Amino acid sequence: MAGRVIAITGPTRGIGHAVALACARHGATVVLVGRNVKKLEAVHAEIAALGREEATIAPFDLEKAVANDYDTLSAALLERYGRLDGLLHNASLLGMLAPIEHYDVPTFYRVMHVNVTAAFALTQVLLPALKRSADAAVVFTSSSVGRKGRAYWGAYSASKFAVEGLAQVLAAELDSTTAVRVNALNPGPARTAMRLQAYPAENPETLPQPEALVGPYLALLGPASRGVTGQSFDAQPPR
Ligand code: NDP
Repeated sequence: MAGRVIAITGPTRGIGHAVALACARHGATVVLVGRNVKKLEAVHAEIAALGREEATIAPFDLEKAVANDYDTLSAALLERYGRLDGLLHNASLLGMLAPIEHYDVPTFYRVMHVNVTAAFALTQVLLPALKRSADAAVVFTSSSVGRKGRAYWGAYSASKFAVEGLAQVLAAELDSTTAVRVNALNPGPARTAMRLQAYPAENPETLPQPEALVGPYLALLGPASRGVTGQSFDAQPPR
């Protein structure tokens, strides 16, 4: 990972936080893309304490960002680094667990916007920077409910199917004409706030910590996955 510039959405907690620290520990320069500046500053400080490459804070709300915010982020990144070697779409919203028949329409819209539309728009605006890398990797975060629909998982499930599709379409478009690879990764159950929201009665101690799952992220964001594109991976065996 040394020398690589990696942007990660949602690095303030959970899996994104663990992956951001792991990337930094392995020598990458991490661009922390998130909506809460205080939390981003805390992660920036954690990375500084590692004594590795200084991270960059990119305040960006995937729900509220408008075209100008995307352009500003892309321009700032290009100006500072001249390229982007990795982009991890990790931030996402669970929304609500409810039958489609009663699913709240504004919530459906929000979840699809944050999980799919914003990830699409961010990828699009960062593609020029990714194409400037000799070896770039885009990783979309999927879920088991993005591979097989599950009752009551509503917009979240539909959004993860969409993310899988987006990754495949983009991978096919970029394969053989660019050095940008695109894959999807399902982390599997992890001890995070989102999992607790989805399964409030579950004992979190039975779940792996996000730090235990960073290996596949490093592999897909780093040189280990060179030549691998258009694939869907699982970070854990199915339970
Ligand atoms: P968390 O809910 O713990 O963290 C979500 C992250 O997304 C936070 O950093 C949060 O920022 C950020 N985020 C949410 N909304 C926005 C927004 N509008 N703009 C910018 N950032 C935002 O999630 P997990 O770590 O559990 O999940 C990470 C990924 O893994 C997700 O894509 C999830 O779908 C997927 N996944 C997780 C599983 C699990 O068991 N945990 C299982 C399968 C898939 P903030 O701190 O500011 O709220």
